[in-house]
Amino acid sequence: MANVQAFAKRSLYYLKQLQWRCLSSTVLSHMSKSPLLFDNVELASNRYDIQRGNFAKATQQDINYFKDILSSQSAVITDAEELIGSNTDWLQVVRGSGPVLLKPENTEQVSKIMQYCNNRNLAVVPQGGKTGLVGGGVPVFDEIILSTSRMNNVIDVDKISGTLVCQPGCILQELEDRLNSDNFILPYDLGARGSCHIGGNLSTNAGGIRLVRYGSLHGSVLGVEAVLADGTVLDCMSTCRKDNTGYDLKQLFIGSEGTLGIITKVAIALAQKPRAQCVALIGCNNFENVKQVFSSARKDLCEYLSACEFMDSKIMSLVENHLKLTNPVQTSSFYVLIEASGSSEQYCKTALLDFLETLIESKVIKEGIVADNSVQIKDVWALRERVLEACQHDGYVFKYDVSLPLRVFYNIVDDLRSRLGSQAKSIGGYGHIGDGNLHINITCEEYNKQLEKAIEPYIFEWIGKYKGSVSAEHGMGFIKRKYMNYSKSEAAYNTMKGIKQLLDPKGILNPYKTIPDQY
Ligand SMILES: Cc1cc2nc3c(=O)[nH]c(=O)nc-3n(C[C@H](O)[C@H](O)[C@H](O)COP(=O)(O)OP(=O)(O)OC[C@H]3O[C@@H](n4cnc5c(N)ncnc54)[C@H](O)[C@@H]3O)c2cc1C
Repeated sequence: MANVQAFAKRSLYYLKQLQWRCLSSTVLSHMSKSPLLFDNVELASNRYDIQRGNFAKATQQDINYFKDILSSQSAVITDAEELIGSNTDWLQVVRGSGPVLLKPENTEQVSKIMQYCNNRNLAVVPQGGKTGLVGGGVPVFDEIILSTSRMNNVIDVDKISGTLVCQPGCILQELEDRLNSDNFILPYDLGARGSCHIGGNLSTNAGGIRLVRYGSLHGSVLGVEAVLADGTVLDCMSTCRKDNTGYDLKQLFIGSEGTLGIITKVAIALAQKPRAQCVALIGCNNFENVKQVFSSARKDLCEYLSACEFMDSKIMSLVENHLKLTNPVQTSSFYVLIEASGSSEQYCKTALLDFLETLIESKVIKEGIVADNSVQIKDVWALRERVLEACQHDGYVFKYDVSLPLRVFYNIVDDLRSRLGSQAKSIGGYGHIGDGNLHINITCEEYNKQLEKAIEPYIFEWIGKYKGSVSAEHGMGFIKRKYMNYSKSEAAYNTMKGIKQLLDPKGILNPYKTIPDQY
């Protein structure tokens, strides 16, 4: 293999030969699907302390109206069995009892639905690929579910400007496949790519594995069309990279989790597909070394650095044990995945190998491997991207997604281990270290209120103390919203409430989500 030979030339003979198992064909089909069944998840209205809002209940007359405007039987689902999946979130922590699932095809239909629901005071939850991890895309009580799954047309790919215009229900992986043939990629990517929709990605301001290079969606989204709660179509579509005409209203719909409007069209700036890509997996003895790897990667790989992820040994062992994936490096306390990509294959590989050589010589890392063909690269990425799936197999998952300054980044995981002791089955940390984004997964056999009380609000107080964020990239949804005060000021909270009141005075759009009832 090229990597081993390259290292051998440099006499770094302690790198071991790898045994690659070809896992890539299974990766995409499993990655974004919840491995368990939905039907025994407790109703959110029972599990959580929450009151139903003063909304109307959908009647047969309402359903007949929806059938009329959607003019297709398969676009209005009322069958209880079929609705279970749409009522339950990916993590299986929130389950509602929405009585009807609507699948419009275009903006006009969405507008008619919203106008009708607003007049009737019916609550609506927008739903994309349903891979959200904070219970934002499913009903809490009996909200009407509006799915964008049939709004999945690509409207335009401008190959000169490098822009994409599409409907919100396009699946990320399908967009990526189509764009790749024109040598473009989307400026973001995430493990749920096989199911998540671009509309859901914007609504959650999804981060993911390319953020370290391309920045957040607030920078790369060029235009949004959204339908407001009363059915008004707000056209903020543009494919211009520069547009300073007044307030940038499209930004309101990026990260607002369907509480301000339903995104019905998206324009986004594309990135050029890199010609070369290499991935290294590195073993480290301690977290100080992980930080050194990241800061050296920024310095030495510079514009070639396209991802920097880490996971601890607990997380790696869950992936190995539950998913039977092979960890190609020696057992270590921490693992760092570094991806380098760019226009020159020669430079990409050389830069990554030089970088690793320096780290080994300076004893920052124990060992590392380099994957430089697409099968190996997918296998290495699978170790990182299937973490959540591995944790789901371990039991009920309390999942946290936080931003913290790197100087205290991992301390919280150690701290939680000593606080929770044997109450938790496993406590592991991993995430996008390049973005200062830590995921903490705590598992137990089944949902455990006592354990939850031992974790929350303790974990959020910890984050607040270090001026971090209680939600780095997944949003607040239903399960995190009450902790907003640990990351946002009261004035910011009141301003958000004011915007919500202005755009959705009856509060019918995704109630019980994002903004807490009280500060
Ligand atoms: C295996 C796995 C890996 C993941 N990795 C990452 C990651 O690296 N980074 C990351 O940020 N997230 C990650 N996630 C979380 C999730 O994939 C993202 O939040 C994703 O953006 C959700 O998209 P979706 O289409 O599934 O939206 P849904 O889950 O259906 O909805 C999410 C929210 O958006 C709203 N919404 C959906 N569509 C619209 C629309 N058209 N208009 C208005 N509101 C809408 C919903 O009401 C809900 O509040 C991961 C999830 C899984 C399961």
